[in-house]
Order: sequence, then structure tokens, then C-alpha cells
Amino acid sequence: MSRPKTADLALMRKLNTTTVMDCLRRHAPLSRAELSVKTGLNRSTISSIVDDLIDQGYVHETMLQDSKIGRPGILLQFNPQGGCAVGVEIGVDFLLVLLTNFTAGILWQRRVPHTVNDVSDPLRGQIAVLERAETMISEALEFGKTLDLRPLGIGVGVPGLVDANQGKLVFAPNLKWQDTPIRLMWTRRFNLPVFVENEANCAALGEFYYGVAHDVNDFIHISTGIGLGGGIMLNGHLFKGARGYAGEIGHTTIYEDGEVCGCGRRGCWETYAGPRALLHRVRQVLQHMDTASAAQSPLLGMVNGEIEQITPQHVVDAARHGDEVALNALKEVGRHLAIGITNLANIFNPEMVVLGGALSLCGPWLIPIIREYTNKNLLPPLRGSLRIEASVQGLDACALGAATLVLDDIVREPLYSI
Ligand SMILES: [Zn+2]
Repeated sequence: MSRPKTADLALMRKLNTTTVMDCLRRHAPLSRAELSVKTGLNRSTISSIVDDLIDQGYVHETMLQDSKIGRPGILLQFNPQGGCAVGVEIGVDFLLVLLTNFTAGILWQRRVPHTVNDVSDPLRGQIAVLERAETMISEALEFGKTLDLRPLGIGVGVPGLVDANQGKLVFAPNLKWQDTPIRLMWTRRFNLPVFVENEANCAALGEFYYGVAHDVNDFIHISTGIGLGGGIMLNGHLFKGARGYAGEIGHTTIYEDGEVCGCGRRGCWETYAGPRALLHRVRQVLQHMDTASAAQSPLLGMVNGEIEQITPQHVVDAARHGDEVALNALKEVGRHLAIGITNLANIFNPEMVVLGGALSLCGPWLIPIIREYTNKNLLPPLRGSLRIEASVQGLDACALGAATLVLDDIVREPLYSI
């Protein structure tokens, strides 16, 4: 048998380092002995890799009580001081930039509406939004400097189709942007690795690393914003599809002759199950009620009679007071969400479906409806095992997930990054 060549050894070292980091990410704190058992790597390999990771600052030792052996021991976990990552969400009508430490703890964040985006002149609007984002990223990195944290990279979540290999936003219908080479621009500007991903994929990754789907290898995250986007995690990896555009679940058809969707087609799922559908239904019911009945609903009082100002938070507040208009709208949207989720679960057989974005607020009303429907309508072997959860990361989910792209790259490509 021939001896492994240097390149083979380097590759093996890289794969083993990824295995160790992934194991720590999922199960830390762990002792060296536990790492050896869980990864199947021998003790001397573990020691050597851990020494390297400690030297690089990504992992540190802590003296904690090991519950399994009942006495204090040296345990290993990711070092929050291992560096900082910038997460950016370019929303349809806002910008959010945050700075996290190496364990995705948020250190700094700023959210601004971007009224500067001018859809009648998309190029000018795009330049203004990106310049604004650059200023905010610089502020975030400056803050990291004051904490003596090295910058590891910038992750960007965008509302559209992305070529993640090139770090390019290909098409964002609601922003009216296309072919925006974000990585190229910001790598030059900041001299850091830049990762660009669809907002729904970012949010799914954030849940996988630090949210309700931690350590769940097969799950679907539904981002409810202007539309419905899907981040599909299969076997611990984001499923991207042939050209990276998988997950456009909001545009699956549930009524062939249904209402017109923003994409121009009819009967798309998001037209019936997204936040816009919830608000549309509430407004429609209030408009068609007689004045005395409408006045019974607390919703009108919350917005001084201006029904266009009603938000999902208002609907939640009204539902808490037992308001029939809010409760009926939630029931209707919940039923339509459940129909689409049942379809997705029949296709992918996920362990969990996470409801994220604006509708995660409505979880206490929507989730029981979805659970009941899926339990009745999934194919019998799939029933009972599907978990439906609301995201706990709220409106930070996409930007936090974008920062996680940086951390994810270090876990998966350690030799490239360290
Ligand atoms: Zn559509």
C-alpha cells in the first residue's frame, strides 16, 4: 500500500478539523475524551487539532462540572472572543446590520428604514442603499475593534435569488435590483470574506446553529415577510437546487384560479398564508362590517380607524383580547399555512417545520391549528413525528443567520480560514 501524499494528509487534517468543530458546535461543552468518542478520532489526533484551534482562538477551555463523570474537568467550547462577524439584512424597506461574536451573541446592531431606495430609478436607489449599508458595516467593524475582536467576515441576506458561489444578487423583484455583485464590491471595500445568501436560507442557517432547530438535520424554515420563503435543510446542509434557487415555496400553487400573486400568477400559497393575507383578511372583514359591529373590535381603536396601519402585532394584541375578527383571520391563515406545510412535509419528511418572520408572533394561535391539520392529513407514517415550532429569533433571524454564514464557513472550511 502506498503512503498517503502530503495533499492527502492536508485534506484529511481539514476533514478531521471540520468534524471536531462541528461536534463542538452541536454538543459543547465536551472534554477531549468525549470528543474522541463522539467523532471516532483517536486521542492524539483530537489533542493536536484542539491545540491548533485553541492557538487560533476559536476554541477555549473551561473548568465546568462534567455531569456525566460528576467531577470538575476541563471542557472545550467555542470561544466567544474568537472573532466577530457582521450580519447584514437588505430588506425590501429597511437595512439591518449587526455584529456578533464567534458564538453569534449580538454585540451591536442598527436598523434603519431605507427610504432612499427609489424603485423608479433602481440603479440610483441601489447605490444609495448599498452606500448606507457600507457606512453601517464600517460602524459595526469599528465597534468590534473597540472590543479587540478580529473581523472574520461579512454575511449578507437579501430578498431575492442569489448566486451564492459568486456572491451575487441575481434578481430581487421587490427591490427591482438585478445582477448586483455584492461580494465583489464589499470584498474590495472591506478586505474581508463576504458571503451572500437568500434571506430565507440565512434564517434557516441561524435556526440550525443557534435557534429552535439546533442540531436538527432535516427541517424547513418558513420566512414570513412580504412573501413566504423557504430555507430547506437536508442532512445538515442547505438544499439549494440545480442553480441555487430552491425554496421559493411561497409561489407553489394551491388554487389554480385563485387570487393574483405579486409574481403575476394566480393562487400562490403566499397569497393565502402570508402576513399580507392575514392583514388583507382583517381589513376586508372590518370594511364590510356595519359601523357598530366594527367598533366592537379593538383593532380600529389601535390604529385610530386607519385600517391600512394594522400590523400583525395589532392582530396578535386583538386576539389576546378574544377579538373575533382577529381570531377568525388567524384561523383562516393557519388553515392555509397547514395545507402548504402538509404538502412540504409529504415531499421532504422533515423532522421540524419552523415558522419564522412576522407570523412567528402569531405562533400561539397558528401552531395548534397547523399541528391539528398535519396530524389529520399527513400520510399515516408521517403523523405525530413532525414538530412545528415558532422561531425565537424574531426580526433578527435573517441578519443573525447572515453572520452565521461567516461562522459556518470557518467550521466547514477551517484551513481556508485559519
Ligand atoms: Zn406567486
